[in-house]
Amino acid sequence: MKKLLIIFISLVAFQLNAQDLPYFKRAVKELSSSRYQGRGYARGGANKAGKYLEREFRKAGVDEVTLQPFSIDINTFPGAMEMWADRKKLRAGVDFSMREYSPGVKGEFPVYHVDTLNFDGDKLLADLAKAENAGCLVCCDFWFTYKHRKVFSKLQKAGECPNAGLLLTWEAPIKFFKAYGEKVVDKPIDWVTPEAIENVKRVKLNVENEFLNDYELFNVVAKVEGERHDSCYVFTAHYDHLGNLGRKVYYPGANDNASGTATVLTLARHYATHRPAFDMYFVAFSGEDANLRGSTYFAEHPLVPLSQIRYLFNIDMIGDDNPVLYCELSDAGMGEYPRFEKLNQELHLFEALNRGALAANSDHYPFAVRGVPCIFLENKEGHAFPHYHTPSDNRKTVCWDSYEPVFKLVTAFIDHR
Ligand SMILES: [Zn+2]
Repeated sequence: MKKLLIIFISLVAFQLNAQDLPYFKRAVKELSSSRYQGRGYARGGANKAGKYLEREFRKAGVDEVTLQPFSIDINTFPGAMEMWADRKKLRAGVDFSMREYSPGVKGEFPVYHVDTLNFDGDKLLADLAKAENAGCLVCCDFWFTYKHRKVFSKLQKAGECPNAGLLLTWEAPIKFFKAYGEKVVDKPIDWVTPEAIENVKRVKLNVENEFLNDYELFNVVAKVEGERHDSCYVFTAHYDHLGNLGRKVYYPGANDNASGTATVLTLARHYATHRPAFDMYFVAFSGEDANLRGSTYFAEHPLVPLSQIRYLFNIDMIGDDNPVLYCELSDAGMGEYPRFEKLNQELHLFEALNRGALAANSDHYPFAVRGVPCIFLENKEGHAFPHYHTPSDNRKTVCWDSYEPVFKLVTAFIDHR
């Protein structure tokens, strides 16, 4: 009986020692709920989520929580968001969305479909200069305009061409991006699916933007003191997301990146109750979807000297079910890559790790370029991936499969030395 009791107690202790899937799910659902309106800027959703994280870190029993403020200029769409194509009403976030640096727009416009088969930039500009084409919206495939961006960038500027704006086609599901929203161009730019705009002659738009100057955001930094203070481990994840596209649509971002944020919360809860050998930092960044602003600010104003970071783990979008885990490492972190692979195999976590080239795609990057040993973990191209940056990245489409193996991989990396 006594033996059984000991087994039972050690099983419970093991559970307490380990990952916490029910808490993880609760946190993902909370952060992606309508309360936070997609953790964007115009409605204060990001900062509200930051306050929630501060409370959760404190409840976890960490030794210290610091809010690190910084500010950004950012274009937002909190108001009207309506579009009609030849009188057919389109759905915001499904059939169309706005380029992040688009101004608002109200009115009815003829549509000029660019002939991409017989394309000639000079001819296009000459044609658009004709009186009969004045005030039109120029419609073209996004990648084509990217290829010919010298010509098409003129169509964004006042005084260069009399067109009213641009309609860029992007295959469904239509995406929304915020990365370059720190400015507003002269003319509206509207993403639309090829199906929604095919053969359409006239478009009506009613879109309101609001440009926020010096809008204050903050990183949430929790610390658990270890036995040694001369160096530390850092877990990071961004908690901001894309916010609103008009009054009705918001981007829940359950996978991107409530999943990584919730993982970091559970890691803080774990280490707060199991005193680690080294100091541990748990950093929830804001401003990531506005071009890595929070992590860049932290890397420039670190709360711990970057040279003292033994390893940094950035977790972004692990709410997916691909049996292979994607990762990127900094040059300084590469020496440990074989150990990640070995632990992954020994603990039977993922089928494999798939290492890609380092890129400025998430919050590890500002640290990687400053010589910090780090790894970026992302689970992509599973069932949740098609919902990336759409309003359907929500609690129903997020996958729970990768949380436990990611948790085990990073904790084993630290604890099995
Ligand atoms: Zn992300």
